[in-house]
Amino acid sequence: MRALILGGTSDASRLADALARARIDAVYSYGGRTQAPSGQPLPTRIGGFGGAGGLADYLRHERITHVVDATHPFAAEMSRNAVAACAATATPLIALERAPWRKAPGDRWIEVPDATAAVAALPEARSSIFLAIGRQHLAPFAARPQHAYTVRFVDPPDGPLPLPDAHVIVSRGPFTLEGDVALMRARSIGHVVARNAGGDGARAKIDAARELGLPVIMIARPELPERPRVVRIEEVLAWLGHDARLGA
Ligand code: NAP
Repeated sequence: MRALILGGTSDASRLADALARARIDAVYSYGGRTQAPSGQPLPTRIGGFGGAGGLADYLRHERITHVVDATHPFAAEMSRNAVAACAATATPLIALERAPWRKAPGDRWIEVPDATAAVAALPEARSSIFLAIGRQHLAPFAARPQHAYTVRFVDPPDGPLPLPDAHVIVSRGPFTLEGDVALMRARSIGHVVARNAGGDGARAKIDAARELGLPVIMIARPELPERPRVVRIEEVLAWLGHDARLGA
């Protein structure tokens, strides 16, 4: 057996730890978007495969027997390519996918299907907007240049942003409720735009918005082809034919 983990998330890092402890032969793959990705306890490769065809070639060449898609829920292209490449090579595929956030009492969510709809949901009058969506996804917001945007990235931007009024915060987290409440107060945030990533690592901003009574324009996850999905690392180990307790 030789597994490929499509990674780039904290869940994928935890899975890599579990596989390393269980001595499962596996390769960890990063997309290469982050300048200094975290080290992994598994052999690691970085960068795209060259579409679904490139991934299929890689699976054959590296004799991969199992693929675990542990990418971010919004990494839709990679996930679609994994479905296609695994179908083409008859390689078993499973997705490790955390549950989306659910609206809690006190939340003021405006739920939208995509970034374009999020832009349309912004107010006409100038507001201070916390855009917690990643730097590759800012361009649609240029259609509403009247707002003061606060953006938070893992790495410093490598060029000018498409927004005329943007305050950049560079931080890898972890983010806390207290920290995000303080940030939103300091920046006089009126609206938060977020993608429904789920998980704990990014939810402080959602909790902070609830505490401050701020509306959150919540972008739904992209639709993906049907594939087996699990939410817990132990379920991936079981799928790989390994008892999680043996590797603990
Ligand atoms: P994407 O739009 O679905 O992927 C674009 C292309 O990047 C893919 O077609 C693939 O290139 C390459 N790629 C993506 N993930 C890869 C991986 N793990 N290994 C090798 N190649 C990969 O993905 P994205 O949204 O840009 O995300 C890129 C990476 O950042 C992913 O690993 C994801 O887990 C992580 N990440 C994303 C977000 C997010 O908000 N989207 C947040 C946190 C972490 P080829 O077609 O050339 O193979």
